[in-house]
Amino acid sequence: CEIPISNEEFDLDVEGARSGVELLCVVKAVLKKIKRKVLVGDRVVVGSIDWVDRRGMIENVFQRKSEMFDPPIANVDHLLVFFSLEQPKLESFSLTRFLVEAESTGIPLSLALNKLELAEEETVEEWKARIRSWGYEPLFCSIETKHGLGTLEFILRDQTTVVAGPSGVGKSSLINALRSNPRRVPDPKEGDNWFEPILGSKWFEEQRIGEVSSRSGRGKHTTRHVSLLPLSGGGYLADTPGFNQPSLLKVMKQSLAQAFPEIQKRLDAHEPAKCAFNNCLHIGEPGCIVKGDWERYPYYLQLLDEIKIREEFQ
Ligand code: GDP
Ligand code: ZN
Repeated sequence: CEIPISNEEFDLDVEGARSGVELLCVVKAVLKKIKRKVLVGDRVVVGSIDWVDRRGMIENVFQRKSEMFDPPIANVDHLLVFFSLEQPKLESFSLTRFLVEAESTGIPLSLALNKLELAEEETVEEWKARIRSWGYEPLFCSIETKHGLGTLEFILRDQTTVVAGPSGVGKSSLINALRSNPRRVPDPKEGDNWFEPILGSKWFEEQRIGEVSSRSGRGKHTTRHVSLLPLSGGGYLADTPGFNQPSLLKVMKQSLAQAFPEIQKRLDAHEPAKCAFNNCLHIGEPGCIVKGDWERYPYYLQLLDEIKIREEFQ
């Protein structure tokens, strides 16, 4: 959960793995020296805990499963591309850019379309058929009517998910609908002794392992803020303004095809045959086995041009 964090450079907000208790932590100097930067999403060991002020020190960082740099988050295991059907209207090229950016990370992705109650049934069916032909199974939901929220909670459970989508589609509403209620944090100053019986117990030992849930960035010059919000169904959802404008900077012209399931499907269907050229871009080269008979082919060409221009200037 978001609690006020100070402006000290390395203050981090750490949530107990089991207890959910939050501590404001500094990073042990020796960790900084070996350049092991602590990221949001890291599982860490916390020591020197001061329960009254709820402060501690991060002493070690566990091995990461995955690492994302834009936004910087460790251990992301799922991306949720989130759009709305109406207000703003779903737009296929914009959706494609987000899908390509998400595919380029190699992290599994899901696609959800919000504001279902605002869309005509016919429109919904049309989108479902189109998006299936792209190779995705869209999930329809409405934060307003709560339609599909149970399914979303189910696919997000026990994972760390980054949500990405344009503004106005309902990302904050989604996070608010699914996040767990802020846990009651005991206050020893007010004679609340809920904490004391557990000090020194096995449970206490376990809760020293936590997950970094947010960071202050670089003091006052913070340009972006990433936080992981615990969900009531288990798991975390990351709220990251930085991921909401797909730059495609990590996508190279040779790897763009991998971000289009349509191309992969056509290549797989011809196995073991391949395009004549190893570095085929599937733009009509002789011996290319990928035809342009699919809806998003013009988008593929357009993005390819964009990437070629960028690569020329790099
Ligand atoms: P974000 O910019 O993606 O974080 O979008 P917000 O969560 O701020 O939502 C933008 C607007 O859409 C707000 O006015 C929400 O109340 C509204 N909204 C969110 N979900 C729904 C929905 O399912 N149906 C309708 N009609 N409005 C919604
Ligand atoms: Zn080809």
